[in-house]
Amino acid sequence: MKSKRQRIVAGNWKMNKDYEQGRELALQVVDKLQPSEVKVVLCTPYVHIKSIGVMTKDIHNLSVGAQNCHQEDGGAYTGEISASMLKSLGTEYVILGHSERREYFGETDALIAVKLGKVLEHGMLPIYCCGEKLEIREAGTHLDLVSQQMAESIFTLSEEDFKKVVIAYEPVWAIGTGKTASPEQAQEMHGAIRGLIAKQYNEEVAEATTILYGGSVKPGNAKELFAQPDVDGGLIGGASLKPDDFISIINSY
Ligand code: PEP
Repeated sequence: MKSKRQRIVAGNWKMNKDYEQGRELALQVVDKLQPSEVKVVLCTPYVHIKSIGVMTKDIHNLSVGAQNCHQEDGGAYTGEISASMLKSLGTEYVILGHSERREYFGETDALIAVKLGKVLEHGMLPIYCCGEKLEIREAGTHLDLVSQQMAESIFTLSEEDFKKVVIAYEPVWAIGTGKTASPEQAQEMHGAIRGLIAKQYNEEVAEATTILYGGSVKPGNAKELFAQPDVDGGLIGGASLKPDDFISIINSY
């Protein structure tokens, strides 16, 4: 079953790399990238999207993504960017609901649901992030929390729209901390998420949904994580800024 799903390794550059540094990083990734069935997505700061999109336009398994977008079409929202603006730059994927957006910008699942609709309306593909904080994991209620996050956001989508979404399970305690979920912990959650999708929509939709793991993925742990039956790739933060590490993670399939 797993082999039928689109495998994705997406890099989340976060707020790193100025214009020239970003071009250099993308050039190094392109230079080392080997032909493969894994889709690689570079989720860069907005400033890079156009130039890296042009640079990589002939590489069929590489796409450029954004890390957020505003929920309104336009207007007096100083400093924000709309889905149509992102689309006009050639953006294909948009990360939504990253835990840093939830934590530092107060994003709720209700807001993320509106953003999901906007990104889809403009023909881009959301990478929807969910995941629990450490205290929830320690209390043993992580499955309930993720189920609630999904109920309030992606499960508000129609089946047709849901089919376009990529999910990234990112335990907050593993993001940027060097602590990775064990392959068993990742599989438990990914299996549960697939079960929730089957219940909400149907088995066929659940089997076709790409579910990424994110949280301190590195060359040394990617192979074991990606070997889990319900792990279809990764959302990579820190290691996506190091071309050799990022390529090694992509090649872990
Ligand atoms: C992320 O930012 O989505 C992430 C998973 O970061 P890191 O790989 O650095 O933990």
